Amino acid sequence: MNYRLLVNKTNGLSKDFIPEDLVDTKSEYKDGILISEEVLNAFRKLQNDAKIFNYYFDIESGYRPYDYQEKLYNELVKEKGFNYALRSVAKPGYSEHQTGLAIDICIYKDGKSYIEHDIEELPEIKWLHSNCHKYGFILRYPKDKEEITGYMYEPWHLRYVGDIAPYIYNNDLTLEEYYKTFNL
Ligand SMILES: [Zn+2]
Repeated sequence: MNYRLLVNKTNGLSKDFIPEDLVDTKSEYKDGILISEEVLNAFRKLQNDAKIFNYYFDIESGYRPYDYQEKLYNELVKEKGFNYALRSVAKPGYSEHQTGLAIDICIYKDGKSYIEHDIEELPEIKWLHSNCHKYGFILRYPKDKEEITGYMYEPWHLRYVGDIAPYIYNNDLTLEEYYKTFNL
């Protein structure tokens, strides 16, 4: 598996792309969330280390098959209109979640679970953003990079990229900029 795989609005995956090493995350948030095994191993380390600070992370979304993304996208277009959908949810075949390398984080706190924009102000998220590169993850859709990534700020969406994560973090890059830097 190529952990540097670039999937965005112009680089898509075929309809039949399915990661080979999908495993069940055993997430407490929801049953049946699958991701690539290497990604799960890395996440487990992050999850365990965070407990030292009484931070409790879990996975709210992982691998999404092409058909699922198709449904999600069509529903959002119907609900919020084409322009909104385009900025916030990938078209089928253009979602990082189809790679099995992307996870959406949820946070458990005070007996509740927090997802999406509700996690934004929590101290947990600051820790996550400044430490996830040590485990091979990057914040895939940072603030003020919408023009480059094509997506609004998503503090919950992490992407596993493996050993290039510290480089991307230390140089304040997106995956798109990393590709440009190295002419990939
Ligand atoms: Zn996501």
